[in-house]
Amino acid sequence: MSKIIQYRSKCIGCNSCVEHAPNTWEISEDGKSTLKNAEKKGGIYRKEIDESSLEENKKAAADCPMHIIQILP
Ligand code: SF4
Repeated sequence: MSKIIQYRSKCIGCNSCVEHAPNTWEISEDGKSTLKNAEKKGGIYRKEIDESSLEENKKAAADCPMHIIQILP
């Protein structure tokens, strides 16, 4: 299992992460991307992800124009 982290307040809602990993991300009514079923601590959203969605989320992290997605081992 890896951990995915999003600093959501800086999200510009570009939809790139949703395109890479639609099972993990969705655009919410406020126009920002939401990490589905995440825990929220302060402005940071966290969630465990399994191997099956790791590669697509690595791409989401790499392509996020705001660099607000991190994957931790
Ligand atoms: S790729 Fe980054 S900036 Fe774009 S919607 Fe996802 S989290 Fe927000």
